[in-house]
Amino acid sequence: MSGGFDLKSRLQELGITPKKALGQNFLVSPTVIEKIISAVKARKFSDLVEIGPGVGALTERLLEEGFRPRLIELDRDLARYWRGRDLEVIEADALRLNWDELGLRKGSLLVSNLPYQISTHIVIDRCLGPKDLTYMILMFQKEVAERIQAKPRTKDYGMLSVMAQTHFKIARICEASQRDFYPPPKVASRVLSFERLPEVDLGPRFLRLLKAGFAFRRKFLLKNLSGTVDKSKLERLIPAKARAEELSPADWVKLYNKIYERD
Ligand code: SAM
Repeated sequence: MSGGFDLKSRLQELGITPKKALGQNFLVSPTVIEKIISAVKARKFSDLVEIGPGVGALTERLLEEGFRPRLIELDRDLARYWRGRDLEVIEADALRLNWDELGLRKGSLLVSNLPYQISTHIVIDRCLGPKDLTYMILMFQKEVAERIQAKPRTKDYGMLSVMAQTHFKIARICEASQRDFYPPPKVASRVLSFERLPEVDLGPRFLRLLKAGFAFRRKFLLKNLSGTVDKSKLERLIPAKARAEELSPADWVKLYNKIYERD
């Protein structure tokens, strides 16, 4: 359990008012914090990275457990604070950072109570790499988590679901309600764990295919893909009336391999 981390005093000490634009909804629930920490500890990882340490709800516990996370923090004041604590801080936008330059070792783990504005992008970007980032324990708005885990033929199923499920084995760690944060966000949240599936080699072209395929949900897949793939080829591969949401993640991989003759 936490050695007495007090969010309000830390905010006062640092003279910080939570910034909405940076998605600063700080975790205050010891139960949720401990579930995240247990999930981290349960994995045998090499390097540990945290996006957005904020005022330290997770970071302090990671330090107490003897880990030394590398921190990616966009807020200049918070970045300065953590540098002052003698930790490696990458003061940057996690979306713009070149993650390959981090030099992460195989089996690395990313943990974050993600700022909600960047959460879907982070998942998609991390699907593409770095490949040595093996594990992720991430907090999302519940509706984003539902989209990530959605099954085919449901309203939540889309490009994000296929991308995430073709690259990672995903499981739910816990739920978090509005009152588990300060200030409370408008919606509930959920923590998911990700473990990279071995030998997946899909890349940005697969993402482009999914984006095109799911662009207009009411249209047939054939129509959606007609600008991306040769029509006569497509007609041989998919039924005229198939829709993007009817293809499972495995079907999407098969289709991709056939389109680009990767079999
Ligand atoms: N980990 C802390 C916690 O759980 O209480 C803070 C989480 S808060 C939801 C999100 C954190 O991410 C904030 O510290 C915020 O400054 C930082 N942040 C926001 N946008 C960012 C970005 N694009 N890149 C890196 N950090 C960002």
